[in-house]
Amino acid sequence: MTENQEERSSPISTSLKIGGHYYKLSALPDLMRMYHAWGRCNHILKTIDVDAGVSITELIATVIHESIEAFKEQRALNDLDHDTMINLDDGLTQLMVDNPDFFIKALTELKKERGE
Ligand SMILES: [Zn+2]
Repeated sequence: MTENQEERSSPISTSLKIGGHYYKLSALPDLMRMYHAWGRCNHILKTIDVDAGVSITELIATVIHESIEAFKEQRALNDLDHDTMINLDDGLTQLMVDNPDFFIKALTELKKERGE
């Protein structure tokens, strides 16, 4: 395991609350090679797997994309096509990556308000 993979293991080994449901987030080696995708979402098991080799930006994009997949399933957004979902995850990832200080400050403030 390289130093970079070690640093990334922490945000990946967690659960995400998406639309009120908890999804277990895991890193999977060779996901891209085997399934031709950086991530996948299982709506029944409530799991999101991400390829273990992704960069931090790809990790954010993949988590956002799979979260959109979860929203689509939860809210039966059947008209939401995959190209639109890719455009949304791309735009939202860019928003976060271009403005990390805003999100860090706003979310730190939110955690304080919640007493976390
Ligand atoms: Zn997808």
